[in-house]
Amino acid sequence: MTEMLLKYFRDKQQQVQSKKVYDTQCPYCSMQCKMQLIEQTVITRKKYTTIGKDNPTSHGRLCMKGMNAHQHALHKDRITQPLLKVNGEFTPITWDKALEIIKKNFSAIQLENGHDALAVYGSASITNEEAYLLGKFARVALQTKHIDYNGRLCMSAAASAASQTFGMDRGLTNSLSEIPNAECIILAGTNIAACQPTMLPYFEEAKENGAFIIVIDPRETDTAKMADLHLKIKPGTDAALANGLLKVIMEKGYTDERFIKERATGFEEVEEHISSLSLKEISELTGVSIRQIQRAATIFAEKKTGMIFTARGVEQQTDGSLAVRNLLNILISTGKVGKPSCGYGAITGQGNGQGAREHGQKADQLPGYRSIENEEHREQIARVWGIDKEQLPQKGVSAYEMIERMEKGEITGLFLMCSNPIVSNPNANFVKEALRKLKFFVAVDLFISETAKLADLVLPAASYLEDEGTMTNLEGRVTLREASYPVPGEAKRDWQIICEVAHALGKGEYFNFSSAEEIFNELRAASRGGAADYYGITYERIREEDGVLWPCPTSNHKGTERLFERTFAHPDGKAKMVAVPNSPLIPKEQPCERFPLYLTTGRVTSHYLTGVQTRKSAALAARNFESFMEIHPAAAQKFGIQDQELVEVTSKRGSIIVRCRWSAAIRQDTIFIPFHWADSQNVNRLVSEELDPHCKMPGFKVSTVNIRPLMALR
Ligand code: SF4
Repeated sequence: MTEMLLKYFRDKQQQVQSKKVYDTQCPYCSMQCKMQLIEQTVITRKKYTTIGKDNPTSHGRLCMKGMNAHQHALHKDRITQPLLKVNGEFTPITWDKALEIIKKNFSAIQLENGHDALAVYGSASITNEEAYLLGKFARVALQTKHIDYNGRLCMSAAASAASQTFGMDRGLTNSLSEIPNAECIILAGTNIAACQPTMLPYFEEAKENGAFIIVIDPRETDTAKMADLHLKIKPGTDAALANGLLKVIMEKGYTDERFIKERATGFEEVEEHISSLSLKEISELTGVSIRQIQRAATIFAEKKTGMIFTARGVEQQTDGSLAVRNLLNILISTGKVGKPSCGYGAITGQGNGQGAREHGQKADQLPGYRSIENEEHREQIARVWGIDKEQLPQKGVSAYEMIERMEKGEITGLFLMCSNPIVSNPNANFVKEALRKLKFFVAVDLFISETAKLADLVLPAASYLEDEGTMTNLEGRVTLREASYPVPGEAKRDWQIICEVAHALGKGEYFNFSSAEEIFNELRAASRGGAADYYGITYERIREEDGVLWPCPTSNHKGTERLFERTFAHPDGKAKMVAVPNSPLIPKEQPCERFPLYLTTGRVTSHYLTGVQTRKSAALAARNFESFMEIHPAAAQKFGIQDQELVEVTSKRGSIIVRCRWSAAIRQDTIFIPFHWADSQNVNRLVSEELDPHCKMPGFKVSTVNIRPLMALR
């Protein structure tokens, strides 16, 4: 064999053996499963596989979304250059040109309409560093009060409830490792099996250990299938059901008097309120029998340990924050918090749903969970940022309220980061029209999403594989997502984009960062002494300890596994109980002749949020390539609708078309539609704009609708 041939075969062999491993974390839910992308080159073709990596939260498990996440990151439709809309078409331009256009337009808007005419709309999918920097960008670079984020539509009710009851909002009061030893678990409005599949084994282990599991949900989901008792509640009545459970607990003398006396305030008011309520009325209101309410309350109270978990089913309602507070009333009344395997968990939806709500992306918030209305807090953050506290804008308004201001012409410019508000907000037709009125709109994204299509300028962002930073998972564990995969084309990391825009606007001195770690170190200092104190956490520690649970105020503090063991976080150290009415201040829609069915919305296992990423993944899209309406066969027959038939669903606000799926798992007065699709399948076109007055969460989970077969329209 000639030397040339030998070299040829040697080279080929090397190509076959070429293998690269990239450490990362799943970009989707709040479990933030650690994983590795393995890239193998076989001759000239690249093959990709994702495997789980051991860690204290998911223990190496992955669900189908994580296993296929690379498909969207490596998708040919990724934006890799800034795109400017010219005559209705996107045209590639240079970064220099893009920054010049932003400077020109943002300056003109602020000159003409004032600083608050610009808004920033953030995301709970970005890293802590980027969420922190975006808050600073709005207040320091743009000097606008208008910043809020898509987590407002996701976590605001649970966050508000925990802050008001406990004085602090960390999603889980205990680490996940305490679940298997809980003797009774209430899962309220949470479909873990579909939304956080790698969390399910904790509950399965608890069940194997003999735990009694109570599920509260209008549908018999895969999660409800493991329940010992399923309370198939009427949508929107969770607050009333909690009153029923409290009534049984109080009347049967199951309250923990000592715990209440030493550790809570407000019990007497709650007790008086509960005594005025009728269990029969609660049963009629909720659709849950008196016997089931009594059984659930008795078992939860009698067990030595117990935990309550909530998610969007309870929270995404116009009284979601109070409904959660009422469930927390149960924990406090029975003394089941601050002890092993006793506590509360708000199961976060988005990947960084926890961290992204702590460091300043919210309209009323500064880093470390500080309040923008508190003079002392303003002073502390202004000092870290090197500005005068008077320069800090005041409190803005929530995500949907910013959109209302766009519609009114009060906000005329928008900087949108990694979010798809025309699909995710309620009253979606209105939202689209509001965004169309903007004078200048910049979107930062991986793809031309439904919302980015409306932008004047789209900036290409880095994906989870390419962007390093910390993510705080549902436990409150600060994890480090490593990233070594090359950023495609001219795309940039979100934090780099923020810094470059700030420099272009002449505020570069406040945004001189050359790595995510540098930003994290400033975030640590800004959070120091705040409720969400990250000061003792460093990249080095996270790497060594596989994540650190906040609060962690000093470098020798080991992080906090369990909250509230001795005191709650209010200044008096006590939890605050509150009396919650059965029905909310803002009445929810009730079935009527014109709109006879409840509509509730949620997720399916193969998709995430508005589907911008998962709809690009062939393996995930194939599992559910279109939206659907789940309906009880008896209800479907009443409306003359066959299984698998196309149906028009109409509410006061609009119509969509989806395929019908018969299922005996849902209540006969309710239909379910997932929210991962856009345009004529966007269920949020049907949802009301009413907001929870306490936390501004829209009432996604309760609307009323009419349905008819599409054939009938012809
Ligand atoms: Fe883990 Fe959630 Fe990703 Fe599934 S979607 S792999 S549970 S982080």
